[in-house]
Amino acid sequence: MPIFDIESVRRDFPLIVNETLEGRVYLDNAATSQKPKCVLDTINHYYAQQNANVHRASHHLSTQATLAYEEARETVRHFLNARSREEIVWTSGATAAINLVANSYGRRFLQPGDEILLSECEHHSNIVPWQLLAEERGLTLRYIPVLPTGELDLSELPTLLNERTKLVALAHVSNSLGMPMPVERVIAAAKRYRARVLIDGSQAVAHDNVDVQALDCDFYVFSGHKVFGPSGIGVLYGKYELLEIMPPWQGGGEMIEQVSKRGATFTLPPLRFEAGTPHIAGAIGLASALRYLSTLDRQAAAEYERYLLNGMERLCADIPGFQLVGGQGRTSIMSFLVKGMHPQDIGTLMDMQGIAVRVGHHCAMPMMEALGLSGTIRASLAFYNNLDDVERFVDALRKAVTEF
Ligand code: PMP
Repeated sequence: MPIFDIESVRRDFPLIVNETLEGRVYLDNAATSQKPKCVLDTINHYYAQQNANVHRASHHLSTQATLAYEEARETVRHFLNARSREEIVWTSGATAAINLVANSYGRRFLQPGDEILLSECEHHSNIVPWQLLAEERGLTLRYIPVLPTGELDLSELPTLLNERTKLVALAHVSNSLGMPMPVERVIAAAKRYRARVLIDGSQAVAHDNVDVQALDCDFYVFSGHKVFGPSGIGVLYGKYELLEIMPPWQGGGEMIEQVSKRGATFTLPPLRFEAGTPHIAGAIGLASALRYLSTLDRQAAAEYERYLLNGMERLCADIPGFQLVGGQGRTSIMSFLVKGMHPQDIGTLMDMQGIAVRVGHHCAMPMMEALGLSGTIRASLAFYNNLDDVERFVDALRKAVTEF
């Protein structure tokens, strides 16, 4: 067993250790993660001691709130290794960040006949905004196909990418199966055609370090709630030279330079894209979560999660009818089926035994269609899960399959 102080880590997460879980096992971490106490304390402290609007007033409280809010941006910059904090735009989540790029960059720079390349593995959040844009602008969407293992079939990449491809949008890790996507190879191929690349890091950030400069992607998005932070806050990273030429998408306070009855001029990024009062407590809470992560040995945490996942798979292998969906190297997700049983029934039987898993298409219907499935059962781990959770999950599944 890899060295990772799991008992100490569990104590950091009130919902995991206290009575509220009532002995339940939480294995739906890909949907949302639990929050360490420091995040709850930070949010509480903000509202109790610092609450004021940011960037507006000249009074003490507002200055303090603005400082904390902008320091949070710096924490995200550091977390992603962006070059400057001006490259970090607060959004309400990954979905909002993708919609921002589609509506700002997409509407301004994509012309009828241009192509956008996606993959069949994408979450609906990384498909539907592009479909809406394609319909409006007369664009063509293409999809990198998926193999039965859940890996992308890159053999088709040379025919899918061409001089009309202007944008590639790809998950870092697929949310339905947990397969890591070959983002480095796709980014390198896209660059040859000068296509811009957006990486959806929603399922990656909780499990691995991300370096946007090393990746050399143009945009990177993620949601705070999947990385132990609050919901309602997310991040769009964009290379400054792109953010600088992108028009605002939403108008309002904070994002202007001058407004007259005749029109408005806009401030520089990132505020240009942050119309209205932002989710201040969310930004500060997310920074607290990222600082918490930086106190952990992330490599040890990732190895520990792999150890749990491998154990889970091994213990499930002899359950009658158990079928794993997806190939090797998955990131903390076990998607599976049980022959002869509907995923929904398994989900209900697991819940009756106190085990939280997710069932269905996981907001990835094109992926399910490509695999010829209507849905799967998905157990997803975080580093605060332990062997007891895994064993209880396996026992409950065995019971669901053999006894009910
Ligand atoms: N992309 C991926 C890969 C996801 O897993 C999710 C959340 N399930 C999203 C995008 C959307 O995230 P949110 O709903 O927080 O905006």
